[in-house]
Amino acid sequence: MIIKISDIPVEGRDVSFSLQCDLLNKRINSVGEVYDKKSIKPPEYVFSDPPLAEVSLQRQGSTVVMQGVAKGQYSSPCSRCASNVETPMSTKFRIVLKPRPKDEAELEEEDIEFGYYTDKEINCAEVVEEIVVLELPYAVYCTEVGKECEVVEVSEDDSAQEEAFVDERFAVLKNIKLN
Ligand SMILES: [Zn+2]
Repeated sequence: MIIKISDIPVEGRDVSFSLQCDLLNKRINSVGEVYDKKSIKPPEYVFSDPPLAEVSLQRQGSTVVMQGVAKGQYSSPCSRCASNVETPMSTKFRIVLKPRPKDEAELEEEDIEFGYYTDKEINCAEVVEEIVVLELPYAVYCTEVGKECEVVEVSEDDSAQEEAFVDERFAVLKNIKLN
């Protein structure tokens, strides 16, 4: 769903579209790949049905405010017992988009409330995909969707990973040289 800035009238424009599961899943997994091997990896999230986005676009000059909601359902392993959990998702968002400056030095940090568009058009699906990725929780538990969790105790693997994570942070301190 690509919308030209010139196609957004003064009174605004509403669009609804669905996200493509393969693109969304690929984007989510690419976040996991950049994680350091020693730190705790986020769980795998898989969308098997295309999430639906309902968006309204308001324009003032070249600044576009995009707000709406993304709804869908993803599956991921429970952080405690590793059994598959289907979690419904409904994310409301509001993001201010501006044309990407030609000079890289003028770039400000993009976040969940601020971003850029290029070539006088907005790739709405891409913006919403990014928002969905950022909104995914770090851990999912069976109990959150009313399911009984099969294992209550934290497994040994999990605590070993936590130790590795702490060690990594202390390792930085060890390398500091005192004069
Ligand atoms: Zn569980």
